Amino acid sequence: MRVILFGAPGSGKGTQGDLITKRYGFPRISTGDLLRRAVQDRTSLGKKAEGLMKAGKLVSDEIVEELVRERISAADCRKGYILDGFPRTIAQAKALERIDGRRPEIVIGIEVRPEILFSRLTGRWVCPTCQAVYSHGVRAPRHHGLCDICRSELVQRADDKPEVIRERIRVYEEETAKLKDYYLRQNTYRPVDGEGGVEDIFKKIVGILDAEAVKEEEGRITR
Ligand code: AMP
Repeated sequence: MRVILFGAPGSGKGTQGDLITKRYGFPRISTGDLLRRAVQDRTSLGKKAEGLMKAGKLVSDEIVEELVRERISAADCRKGYILDGFPRTIAQAKALERIDGRRPEIVIGIEVRPEILFSRLTGRWVCPTCQAVYSHGVRAPRHHGLCDICRSELVQRADDKPEVIRERIRVYEEETAKLKDYYLRQNTYRPVDGEGGVEDIFKKIVGILDAEAVKEEEGRITR
């Protein structure tokens, strides 16, 4: 099963993606994480991406498409994977179909109002070691400022500054939001209300994915 987690920055794609991985075993592929690693490792790709990411702009389609192509060719993606943060443009969606057109492709659209996104992102803290994500109020760490999992000191992402967050939400509205219509036309878009608690949202996603898994199994039997 191939799952695309679709939603604005701060909609909870990473959190839900990790829960999906735990339950179903498919790896979560976050283009943001892949790019941040490239920036940290000072690769030539990372150097190209860094300034754009800091400004809240999109990195070029060619760069992210190449990252995705390479990652999903790995053995652990053979049975399926979860894409988080890709595609973000119609060109990327079309590239994905060329790279891997297998069905079913399920697009989980996590829908959250913009005013909620902003406060979630300004209150977000991440672990630089294991990438766990925390948020004031919703998912606070047990010990202030420390990761529950590996005890590293939590940091804020360079692009979680208010002015960059505003730009990221603007870029989402301008470039990425139209993908919803694209996937609605393909009949693969499944909306999920992303404003409740983490567990409630996850339950809705499980309902969708389990129903798709049943359909996939029935299709296999009748083929
Ligand atoms: P994210 O972690 O998904 O919020 O992504 C962080 C940043 O990485 C974005 O603001 C973009 O600068 C860049 N990025 C991640 N995924 C993509 C993508 N699919 N296309 C273009 N830029 C991306």
